[in-house]
Amino acid sequence: MSEKIKYDYEVKNGWKCLDKAGQEALESFCADYRVFLDNAKTEREATDVLIQNAKVNGFADIDGAAAAIPGDKFYANNRGKSCAFIVIGKDAAVNGMKMIGAHIDAPRIDFKPKPIYEDSNFVLAKTHYYGGIKKFHWVASPLSLHGVVYLSDGSCVKVCIGESDDDPVLYISDLLPHLAQEQMVKNGYQVIAAEQLNVLLGSKPDLTEDVEDSEKLSVKNCILKILYDKYGIKEGDLFRAELEVVPAYKAKDVGLDRSFIGAYGQDDRVCAYTAYRALLDTKEIPDKTTVVYLSDKEEIGSVGNTGARSCWLENLCLKIVTLGNKKAGMLDLRKAMANTKFLSADVTAAFDPTFPEVSEKNNVAFAGNGIAFEKYTGSGGKGGASDASAEFVAYILNLLDRKNVPWQLTEMGRVDLGGGGTIAQFMADLGMDVIDCGVPVISMHSPYEVTSKADVYWTYEGYKAFIAE
Ligand code: MN
Ligand code: MN
Repeated sequence: MSEKIKYDYEVKNGWKCLDKAGQEALESFCADYRVFLDNAKTEREATDVLIQNAKVNGFADIDGAAAAIPGDKFYANNRGKSCAFIVIGKDAAVNGMKMIGAHIDAPRIDFKPKPIYEDSNFVLAKTHYYGGIKKFHWVASPLSLHGVVYLSDGSCVKVCIGESDDDPVLYISDLLPHLAQEQMVKNGYQVIAAEQLNVLLGSKPDLTEDVEDSEKLSVKNCILKILYDKYGIKEGDLFRAELEVVPAYKAKDVGLDRSFIGAYGQDDRVCAYTAYRALLDTKEIPDKTTVVYLSDKEEIGSVGNTGARSCWLENLCLKIVTLGNKKAGMLDLRKAMANTKFLSADVTAAFDPTFPEVSEKNNVAFAGNGIAFEKYTGSGGKGGASDASAEFVAYILNLLDRKNVPWQLTEMGRVDLGGGGTIAQFMADLGMDVIDCGVPVISMHSPYEVTSKADVYWTYEGYKAFIAE
């Protein structure tokens, strides 16, 4: 009897691909992921948290390594803001590596160099936003402050205010509707202007008893005293700082059925975490040397020495090649990169039935349908895209099919509506085969982004499959 041919193609639903054990594994993985999100709200914290975890799991600083054998595990730290995790494979790195690259920066609001000022009993901080935000999202909700300040003696103070239950939170005000007639007719860009993103720090005058009024501190100095008492920071130290304002919300399950995760910064810490865990949870020594690369500055174009366009990753590749062969030179590095397969692990937009008009339903990513691939990103006529070859697409999709990982091959929105980029093009510049893939996100770049647990889990499984085969 001849086999019945199935002529059409149906996308799989990621939930339906899970048996009972799979459903439990999904919940357990997502619980770990939520903890990570709460502990890693900035690129620095993500680097810290993951390197700490890697050390506990036997990863050593690659800077201290002179040689390596298959199975050796290393981490690399780029200025505390970007990092990589490496497992040496059985095959020489010059024959190509497997890499998964995500980014750990997220849209946010940064303190300006001289932030603090007093106005009408309020003490406020001036800010400069980072990345593509809708500025009106950030008002009238609880915020926290994270970052580092360098004191004049060179010591570093880590700041984190607004995360523990007994901490105060920070706040950016909005106009009451009663007085917002003029505001409400402005376009979205102007509803809240950049220079209105002023962070409320306090208002209490100096209430010290038995002190002459003339001796009392200004409200601004009262706030500075709080910073000094807690951290040893004076106003002048803020010039040597990176202070980031982010939402104070915790990661939560979303939906009565708990099928989603809501949290700040899932673009792209969801891919960073799934990629890291995929490497960590692969117990067999991989054939190919495997690197999970977590970059900074993606949200502003991958620029700077911690961004994916810097030569840091190339230098790391050279180091890895040299660990296997001390005499290796530039040609070996070029060969290694040209033979490397790279998953550009970044999020895409999930179809949202409330806003169907921005998508083309045949080719959009659906929350719940598994890891989403994009052959190309870019805008308009694919401008700025790294277009993965059909050969590379075939390689990765066939691999996932063999491992029963549900996937979807998608575009981000309808053509000519907008667009976006990832780090893929910069990896392609190095000669690597590269394709974008990651988790579809609802409300991307908002203070509370939502992902489907099924997609988080299957992205993790997809990265594991890539590493293992
Ligand atoms: Mn991203
Ligand atoms: Mn983004």
